[in-house]
Parts: sequence; C-alpha cells; structure tokens
Amino acid sequence: MQIITKYLEKVPLLTTYILNLGDVKVVIDPGPASLHSPLDVDAVLCTHIHLDHCGSAGHINSPVYVHERYTKYVTEPLKLYEASKTVLGIFAEKFGAPLPSRQVVGVRDQTRLFDVIDVIYTPGHAPHHVVYYERDNKTLFIGDGGGVYIPELGVIVPTTPPPFKLDIYLQSLHKIKSLDVDTVCFPHYSCTRNIEILKVHEQQIRSWAETLKDVDMPIDEALRLLARVDENVAKILTVGGFYAEFYLKISVLGFLDYLKSQRAAS
Ligand SMILES: [Zn+2]
Repeated sequence: MQIITKYLEKVPLLTTYILNLGDVKVVIDPGPASLHSPLDVDAVLCTHIHLDHCGSAGHINSPVYVHERYTKYVTEPLKLYEASKTVLGIFAEKFGAPLPSRQVVGVRDQTRLFDVIDVIYTPGHAPHHVVYYERDNKTLFIGDGGGVYIPELGVIVPTTPPPFKLDIYLQSLHKIKSLDVDTVCFPHYSCTRNIEILKVHEQQIRSWAETLKDVDMPIDEALRLLARVDENVAKILTVGGFYAEFYLKISVLGFLDYLKSQRAAS
C-alpha cells in the first residue's frame, strides 16, 4: 500500500491510500482539487463526496466510485461546490473546485469491488458515506465514519459537520465495529492497529451529545464545556490553528445543529 499525506498550509489534511489489488490499482479518497497531483490508477474510490476527500476525482482520468444516489454530484460538481461554501466557508475555496468526472460508478451496501473490497454503507457523517473493507488484509478504510485520528497529538476527535445525524452515525459505527478488522485507516490522517480507538470514539460521541444536549450555546462555550469532559478537545484547543478551526469548530456546529433540531422535534 502506498500512503500519501497531503498538507494544507503545512498541516496534514488528508491521507490518500493507493492499493494494488492484483491487476487493478485503486486510490481511496484522492483528496481535494487544490492538492491534486497526477495519479496512475485504474479506479478512484471515494468514501464520500466531500471536497477534502473526493474533490480531485475529476482530475483523474479513471472511473470514480461513489454511493449510487450521489453520482450526479460527481458528474456535475458545481452545485456541490457552491453548497459546500455555506458549511465550510473559507475552507471550500482552500480545497478548490472539483472538475466533472466522466465515468462514475454507483456503489451501495454490500457491493463487492474487484473481488476483494466490500462496500459498507455508513451514513451519519453524510448520507453519501461508505467505508471500504479489504477482507484479505482485514483493513478498513473508514473515511469520516470514525472521527479524525491525529497520531502526533495522540488524539481522536469527531468529524461531524452539519447536517450531522447522530443517531444514524452511531448505527453506522456499530456496523463498523462488528467487522473483523486488524487495521483501520483514517483519511485524517493515519492507519492504526489500535482498534480500541473506535470504542473511545463512540464514548466520546455519546459524551459530547450528553454535554451539549440541553441548551443552545455559542461554539466557544460548547468548546469550553467539551474540554472539561474530553481530553482530546483540551489538547486540540491548546494546539489551536487548523485543527481547532476546521475540525473542532465545524464538528461542534454539527452537534449543536443536530441537538437543536432534536429539542425542536420533542
Ligand atoms: Zn467528510
């Protein structure tokens, strides 16, 4: 497996995994359009269509695999790009505008690719999210289905931008945890054999929901409360910069929006 980590403003943004599967070479999550570099692969597998993961798919002249209900956002990506600006703000421009892909292949839960990769539908982070499970090596390419793992800081944090769906996310996480996995590879940013990290992440998701559930509050207040109950948050706030601005704040926003809609519905 070839591993390429792409940096935005000197911070690791996304790790791309290139696999040789017999006669076929595939890339999983090629990264944003702005960080595109030529890749010689037979297929582009996107865990989901967010700009930081799949934005450069159209720059690569190979079929692109995404969830079957969202293929049109890859053949005609302009709408997705414009919609992303409302959630990502300045980061949408930093990730760059995707190019249209000419060949798009729709996948769904249980699709088997190239005889060795199983697709598992895992919505919650986004409705178009899948993970790719390479059975022979028991390796899971988890996309944004299990948070952001930052090995240099020793932390994991949720990546839960609006419109985050907490209940569906937990169902998907349960599905992921039922797989027989030796190695989990996070696009943000690294692989680990410490599978227990997914349990830590699930507890963290439940603890964030509990901490923020009662009242709406500004993001900074939410971060202060979370830092008290989650040492991962405390560490990232100490480091600040991109990690805090991009991951933490947008993830907290997703939680606050979801919890507010739950309160309104009850
Ligand atoms: Zn995402």
